[in-house]
Amino acid sequence: MIQRINDEVYKISCGSNMYYIKPLNLVIDTGNFQERAMVERELSSIVDLSKIKIVIFTHLHYDHIGNFNMLPNAKFYAHKDEISSFEKDKIGAVLNPVIVKKFTPKLISIARLKLPKRYQIIHTPGHTCGSICILDTVKKVLFSGDTLFYDGYGRVDLPNSAPKKMEKSLQEIAELDYETLCPGHEY
Ligand SMILES: [Zn+2]
Repeated sequence: MIQRINDEVYKISCGSNMYYIKPLNLVIDTGNFQERAMVERELSSIVDLSKIKIVIFTHLHYDHIGNFNMLPNAKFYAHKDEISSFEKDKIGAVLNPVIVKKFTPKLISIARLKLPKRYQIIHTPGHTCGSICILDTVKKVLFSGDTLFYDGYGRVDLPNSAPKKMEKSLQEIAELDYETLCPGHEY
């Protein structure tokens, strides 16, 4: 099911949460592969999938990257630390050997993505070393990936986690000015 968060942002719950930001034609994460049919149907009910040009991965766990190839004209962005941890240990970064084999996009460092100034990319290592959050400073929406949930925060005991950095990341998030939290899961 697709859910409207505000007049610009939509959410699809698909093993994880993915988000579509309409004015940017941008997708944050692409959900779990097992939900592919539903994701394609729901997202294409509001946008022609071939028009989506930008995908930002909050991190590269399998349940957030699964349906990347339903977007034939998109470029795929992640934090450079996440990309290098993926290059060093693909299964450790994705946590699923089957999805690793299917995951073939060219990953581009998020630093090279030019977004309107109102959007901030915040590096929040902890759950993974290259996890990021995206803050929309106008609508005051925070997309927090698996760093912060409604009721807690993401695991820091995974192969590419950065447990010692989580506390500082959460502190940084606590200081941000947001009203709506859009996490990677409904925990
Ligand atoms: Zn994760």
